[in-house]
Amino acid sequence: MNFTDFGLDESLIESIAATGYEVATPIQEKVIPEILKGHDIIASAQTGTGKTAAFLLPIIHRLLQHRNEGQVNALVIVPTRELAIQIAQNLEGFSYFTSVSSIAVYGGNDGMNFATEKQALSHGVDLVICTPGRMIAHLNMNYAKLDGLQFLVLDEADRMLDMGFHDDIMRIISRLPAKRQNLLFSATMPEKIRQLAKKILHNPVEVNIAISRPPDKIVQEAFVVFETQKLSLLQYLLKHSKFKMVLIFCSRKQSVKQLTRELRRARFPIAEIHSDLDQANREDVLMRFKSGRIPILVATDILSRGIDIDNIDLVINYDVPHDGEDYIHRIGRTARAESDGMAITFISEKEQNRFATIEALLQKEVTKAAVPQELGPVPEYRPRQKRAGKPGGHHNKKRRYHPHPGKR
Ligand code: AMP
Repeated sequence: MNFTDFGLDESLIESIAATGYEVATPIQEKVIPEILKGHDIIASAQTGTGKTAAFLLPIIHRLLQHRNEGQVNALVIVPTRELAIQIAQNLEGFSYFTSVSSIAVYGGNDGMNFATEKQALSHGVDLVICTPGRMIAHLNMNYAKLDGLQFLVLDEADRMLDMGFHDDIMRIISRLPAKRQNLLFSATMPEKIRQLAKKILHNPVEVNIAISRPPDKIVQEAFVVFETQKLSLLQYLLKHSKFKMVLIFCSRKQSVKQLTRELRRARFPIAEIHSDLDQANREDVLMRFKSGRIPILVATDILSRGIDIDNIDLVINYDVPHDGEDYIHRIGRTARAESDGMAITFISEKEQNRFATIEALLQKEVTKAAVPQELGPVPEYRPRQKRAGKPGGHHNKKRRYHPHPGKR
């Protein structure tokens, strides 16, 4: 699903496009329509799934439709400063071409920031991202305008409880109007989160994004190349490596057909499988591959789920899969049963951001292997997205307050 399909405000769509997002992640696909409909949500989703955009985008859209002027309209409570900063940075991108104002309110001892926060909270600001302790400090002085609040988000709720913020959260909530939309995100769902949810949420829609993890025994590597170098690299690997059964994935059947033609011309023993083959043909191809008569098979994602072939020792992603789940399914075709396996992904210039998103989802940086010198110069790996375990691109610790910036 593309972001243009959610019916979001034009200025928001423009901002999303500028951040480079095109296709929604699974959690975004499930959660965004529900928030737009006005439902409370309880979602189990880890960092890396795209959960931040899943709640920020529909909230921004709804705020563009209706805002209570001079009030705080949405409050996002998070466990740590780092997360507050990260969400504020995301928000800066998503609201760039919109008129939504925001501020991050988090600990730290400088009086100037406190004064800026106080000004925003007392004059009203559309969206506030806060850590519990700092918010309580402001609430104690009674100037925060919370009567018009429409949205409450608890992000990483399990972590907040582990850090002992239960009472702070409840104190903050006691100052909010009862009629509001509540969204709770948590990586895990222990009983104490269920209890918290019962106290706060009204008839929530439950969303579960369970991400499976690829088995550790699969060795994952990637090559960062130009699109035009992929074919030569593939031929190089097939010639120089000692793999017995190789499964190559392409996202589109046209690419499968074209690649098969090229490799056949170069005399590699190869077959193809995609949805243009009828069932009998597919079974025949699979049988020849399984029996070892054809050692190399090129496939679309129809082969990535569920098909059990034990001895594939190398999976090559000729292009970067659509999302993390597809990646996990594709590479899971190797190292089945007791055997080991390797998964190699080719990343072109245009695919770097998508691959970084997958790395974030896996919370793992995949080793970038050296491309053989004879292939010539290669691009650097410079994705725009945050990389696994690393903070976001334009990391800026300065507190920003965006007072209704309007179209910039
Ligand atoms: P999060 O789970 O919100 O921390 O997001 C994880 C990473 O995925 C961040 O680097 C986001 O910028 C990125 N991201 C989230 N949604 C998308 C999307 N639909 N397309 C591309 N990247 C995304």
